[in-house]
Amino acid sequence: MSRNLIVAANWKLNKGPAEAEAFLDTFIPKVDAFAGSADIVIAAPFVTIPALAAKLAGNNRIAVAAQNCSEQESGAFTGEISTAMLKEVGAQYIITGHSERRSIYGESDALINAKNKKILAEGLKPIFCIGETLEEREGGQLESVLRTQITEGLKDIDSLEDVVVAYEPVWAIGTGVTATAEQAQDTQKFVRSVIAELYDQATADAVRIQYGGSVKPGNAGELLGQEDIDGALVGGAALEADSFFGILENS
Ligand code: PGA
Repeated sequence: MSRNLIVAANWKLNKGPAEAEAFLDTFIPKVDAFAGSADIVIAAPFVTIPALAAKLAGNNRIAVAAQNCSEQESGAFTGEISTAMLKEVGAQYIITGHSERRSIYGESDALINAKNKKILAEGLKPIFCIGETLEEREGGQLESVLRTQITEGLKDIDSLEDVVVAYEPVWAIGTGVTATAEQAQDTQKFVRSVIAELYDQATADAVRIQYGGSVKPGNAGELLGQEDIDGALVGGAALEADSFFGILENS
């Protein structure tokens, strides 16, 4: 089963429009000269999305993502941004369930599920993150935690055609500690098996599962070479065009 790689930058709370444009000035020429076929996505802060979309108009290699959205359609939800608004300004993907949103902002599996469904209904694609803490892994709860996150997060979603899953062990995010290629592969194989149980083998074989957590140019090749790793979700190393491109080059 060959799945096209998808490599995404998660800029988190970094880069306003001007910095994003400067990044693209360096990044676009590199991608134009690059023969690889990986899908490339940049997830930017809300206010940066229009500038990225404008600069990427007509560019079919690099897609724009948001890092969050409301599960609501419209109305009295101060501070929220809807999927329709994000679509209007050029977002094609939206990250959901990131561990920072789960732990800092208290997002529940039910809320993440509502966001996933709203994104799909809008015709956009969720990059749906799951992952365990070190305590959970060491306490033997790895599989039960992931199974719950997957089952609840994908509840009532009939097809995974437009869903990208990102496995991000919480202990590897922003810490410099990467899961070994073997740990990531074993876990992602398990994630795929849960999807096969919930859907069917063909769906599980087709869905793309990214690895995230301290991915950098130096470890990307080994990670992305694993059978069940279909891309990367990259934080720190995606803030510089050279290092984000270095990950693509090693994909
Ligand atoms: P990191 O972040 O690459 O800086 O570990 C990954 C993420 O949080 O998506």
